[in-house]
Amino acid sequence: MIECDLHVHSLRSTCGFHTLLEIVSIIQKKGLKAFALTDHSPVHQTPRSYFSVMLKRMPPVIDGVRVFKGIEATILDDTGDLDLPEFDETFSYEIILAALHKSGHFEYNINKEKNTRAVITALKKHPKIHVVTHPFYKVFPLDLDALTDTALETNTAIEINNSYILTNKANIEALEQLLELAGKKGNMLSVNSDGHMFNEIGKFDLALEFIIRYGIENYNIVNRTLESTLEFLGLEE
Ligand SMILES: [Zn+2]
Ligand SMILES: [Zn+2]
Repeated sequence: MIECDLHVHSLRSTCGFHTLLEIVSIIQKKGLKAFALTDHSPVHQTPRSYFSVMLKRMPPVIDGVRVFKGIEATILDDTGDLDLPEFDETFSYEIILAALHKSGHFEYNINKEKNTRAVITALKKHPKIHVVTHPFYKVFPLDLDALTDTALETNTAIEINNSYILTNKANIEALEQLLELAGKKGNMLSVNSDGHMFNEIGKFDLALEFIIRYGIENYNIVNRTLESTLEFLGLEE
């Protein structure tokens, strides 16, 4: 049902468990066509100096699996600053995810207004962000009406994150509200695993359960097929 997992962490994220080739084989076994390698940005101790170098040298197709060169950038503060290492003109990310995470810069924050300002300003400031990830994270409540409006305006897809449901990091009430709003307004959705380990990577069952309950036909899921993913990312192949 979903051919591309656009949110996967490798060993290079301090929290990921697998090497690139292990992930390729996990994705193959699950019958998917592609995934995006979206390791955390340097604020999470991901080594900055190797970020572009290694992504640049990575072939686009490994053992028949299309691997998108990506990053999950952390939104640093409510001025919308993004932890996104920029390199020379020979490298550009194929996919940029962005989110609020617990980090030294933006700690656990129950201030909904401040969280919302941070995410919305980041989306407006950085038009290259493709997907806003896990906007129903328990510890960072957001004004989802404002978020869905901004996502429409900036052509950003909203992530329905499987691992957050699996690991109890999701505010289920917020997830349901998000699906209701996105269905009504026509937001693009990206259904991803956010897998850090073999049992999570390429897995979408819990996210799909919610989407099916709200009527899957109501949603434009950008990563449903490889073709729709390429179109969403503005890539030829
Ligand atoms: Zn994240
Ligand atoms: Zn992630």
